[in-house]
Amino acid sequence: MPAQTYLFGCLQDNFGVLLHDPQSGATAAIDAPEAAQIEAALKKTGWRLTDILVTHHHADHTAGIGELKARHHCRVVAPRREAQRIADADATVAENDIVKVGAIEGRVLDTPGHTAGHISYFFPVDKLAFVGDTLFSIGCGRVIEGDPQMMWNSLLKLRALPDDTRFYCGHEYTAANIRFAKTVEPDNKALTARAQEVAKLLAGGKPTIPATIGEEKAANPFLRADNPELAKSLGLGGAPAWKVFAEIRERKNRF
Ligand SMILES: [Zn+2]
Repeated sequence: MPAQTYLFGCLQDNFGVLLHDPQSGATAAIDAPEAAQIEAALKKTGWRLTDILVTHHHADHTAGIGELKARHHCRVVAPRREAQRIADADATVAENDIVKVGAIEGRVLDTPGHTAGHISYFFPVDKLAFVGDTLFSIGCGRVIEGDPQMMWNSLLKLRALPDDTRFYCGHEYTAANIRFAKTVEPDNKALTARAQEVAKLLAGGKPTIPATIGEEKAANPFLRADNPELAKSLGLGGAPAWKVFAEIRERKNRF
């Protein structure tokens, strides 16, 4: 039976998402920005919380863990390299580890850069990826604990997932990301199409995710740093892709 997801807003602009295995009834929250919104989502779906899959240690992804664990006795899966910073972790995982939510099987990808131990979760059968603050739609996370080369390699890993993979990220930043992306690639047709789609979704009060990896490859400048035309337009023709990525990230920081 295919996995089910339930997406909802948390805090200011965070996303919460539940991943549900209809066969066993198991349900994972991907990160726990705040307990109250996750409780509301559980009530709405009627699902029972069995797991919390944490992507990284930032408070806006972990603040709800303690309260949820006390109430639901759920298992908390956390990135191994950030285990000390995530209270209540029951299992720690890293690259290629398998994480099961009931019968649904996911694989861990190390995606450092935003934080040093950031991980993502990929569920190959359902082609779902939970990427935290590494990849956003038409954007990417700030490089806080790592360096640009590390972040670029993490983005390459996510870009290599099948094109029809639907990914869920940690924040609703898409509209702002599009405003910036247009300054980098004003003539990108896929970006123009995505901008129209996003405007329509937001006008209807809908979230802009999940998006697919294939769509992002075409429209997200942060996944296109190895495109020779793009590099040339930034005055970086022939430079290594990670340097082009660093330049785009730096421009976004100042935008
Ligand atoms: Zn973060």
